[in-house]
Amino acid sequence: MRSFEMESFNLIEESVERLHWLIKLRWIAAVAVISTVLFTNQILKFSLPNFPLYAIAVTLYVYNLIFFLLLLPPKQRNSLITINRIANAQISLDLLSLAALMHFSGGIENPFIFYFIFHMIIAGILLSRRASFLQATVAVLLFCFIVISEYLGLLPHYCLRGFIIHDQHNNLIYIWGVSFVFISTLYIAVYMATSISSRLRQREKVLKETNELLKEKDQLKSEYVLRVSHDIKEHLAAIQGCLEPVAGGITGELNPKQFDLVQRAVRRTAKLMFFVRALLEITRIKLSKEIKMDFFSFKDVLSETVDYITVKARDKNISVSSTLEPSIDRIRGTKEYIQETITNLLANSVKYTPRNGKIEIKVSDKGNSILMQIKDTGIGIPRDELPKIFDEFYRASNAREVERDGTGLGLSIAKQIVQRHQGNIWVESEEGKGSTFHIELPK
Ligand code: ADP
Repeated sequence: MRSFEMESFNLIEESVERLHWLIKLRWIAAVAVISTVLFTNQILKFSLPNFPLYAIAVTLYVYNLIFFLLLLPPKQRNSLITINRIANAQISLDLLSLAALMHFSGGIENPFIFYFIFHMIIAGILLSRRASFLQATVAVLLFCFIVISEYLGLLPHYCLRGFIIHDQHNNLIYIWGVSFVFISTLYIAVYMATSISSRLRQREKVLKETNELLKEKDQLKSEYVLRVSHDIKEHLAAIQGCLEPVAGGITGELNPKQFDLVQRAVRRTAKLMFFVRALLEITRIKLSKEIKMDFFSFKDVLSETVDYITVKARDKNISVSSTLEPSIDRIRGTKEYIQETITNLLANSVKYTPRNGKIEIKVSDKGNSILMQIKDTGIGIPRDELPKIFDEFYRASNAREVERDGTGLGLSIAKQIVQRHQGNIWVESEEGKGSTFHIELPK
């Protein structure tokens, strides 16, 4: 997807999310209307016209349901213009409902008229500045229409007797005073809400642009690392090719000093090769746009990996046990990558667990995903280093003391792979007691 399309897709997603929020609020508002009418009639004993008030609450429900259905997935069918129209329509209908409620429950005497402010704030968040001021004008016109019509007797006035002592709908000073405060409050609220939200939108835009720039820079860096490590690997392979016959005595007998030096060179080159391969791998995964996904048997992959690790663990007398829920078998992903991830984590458990320890593997079925837990009785990870453990090249202080060899790349490769599968990886650990690595993978 091109970045422009991506941006407008995100904008649509965001706007739809906000409209869903408004719909949720409206369900609550409809219940609140019914309870307020019940309360004022039954407890406060105001004689308000029940039928129109309940009818307005029902209307609220009905149009809210229509908007809810309109916004159901697939969201892609909605363009930004449609979303804006829906937002405008929702707010206009809300203003009409509120005006009708106001008319049937005391008109200008009803203190709830100030609830119009909430709609102005919502408009400020959802709509453009111009559209928000237009909505404020609609609210003002509706308000004036009701107040003037009730004043002139064109519409009946339902007095809130019990709440106020004197009927105010034809008291001109009261009308002027309340109208002035009401209208100015609405416009000020719109001004404030749109100013804050446009500033936030601006900031969000800058953040998004910076993020894009960082991604581009990261991509350039990865491409550079890929080129360099590829070159290093070629040279290393050539060095290994030269060293092996010498170390194997093919080029002639070596004296003990020469033999020792050549063996050291072979070991160091092998370590360097391992490191460069890991670096190449993580960079390739990062740069690859898509990974090949196929169905494979997770059960088989696990049992192969566990067999392989059990042999390694035997040298340190570490016991390995595994349980897998019978309902788990095939999942979708890249088999080689998943196998590598599990192998990496299990190899770490063996590496960082002292002799006679224990490794337990448990895989549970979570419906749409599987959750794998690898628990060991190893050295654990210091609490303050836990957040950095999946970073590239990071090795915890205690691990460096126990095991000199290590690239600090295994976990970051695992994280890249799991994320590429839309999964999650995390760890719980206590220094000196052990660690539990969790991997959640969608089926
Ligand atoms: P390394 O090559 O150092 O093992 P990894 O990326 O695989 O690199 O792991 C990063 C760090 O995470 C390790 O250096 C170690 O500090 C910590 N770690 C990983 N697995 C375990 C474990 N099972 N127990 C304790 N520490 C672990």
